[in-house]
Amino acid sequence: MGLTYSFRAARKRIEGLDADERKTLLAICRDIQDAQETLTKKGIPLLANCMACQGLCCRNIHPADIITEWDLVYILAMAPAVEDAMATCLTRESFFPSDCIFLENGTGPCLFPDNLRPERCIISFCRVEPSVEKEIGRVMGGFSRLIRFFMFRPLRRWSRWLKPLTPASRHTNG
Ligand code: SF4
Ligand code: SF4
Repeated sequence: MGLTYSFRAARKRIEGLDADERKTLLAICRDIQDAQETLTKKGIPLLANCMACQGLCCRNIHPADIITEWDLVYILAMAPAVEDAMATCLTRESFFPSDCIFLENGTGPCLFPDNLRPERCIISFCRVEPSVEKEIGRVMGGFSRLIRFFMFRPLRRWSRWLKPLTPASRHTNG
């Protein structure tokens, strides 16, 4: 499935949340952003290589293989203002390898604000980098938490609906 499908699915996921769930999602996303910021700071010497190679990782790729629905949930939740620009980029989605559709004006830099990047874009380096292993782990942990939040959402809703039906709560409610 392509990125256009993931984009629609991500929007739908966010729209389906109630006020409390939105608060929880934002808290999870802020943790991911903080983890991305820490990784970016610690990885400055490594990122200098990325500048030198002019972001080879963003070129000649299938963006849908790199960017997931969860990445789009993260970005849309934190930066709703980029939604229109993303939608415009998605009109260029193709099934053939190309430079990433999210490169601004087709050349770069990346359309997304600093520290609001898809997981794989931020954690990938040319080789294993022990110096930032812990920081990479924290970013990955944040995205796992975001996925779990949505996976267990139906269960949490059921337990909320069932709670008033339990004998103890009936008694409490008079
Ligand atoms: S990870 Fe390596 S190939 Fe990718 S942008 Fe950085 S230096 Fe270039
Ligand atoms: S989303 Fe941004 S960082 Fe990731 S591949 Fe596309 S242009 Fe590069």
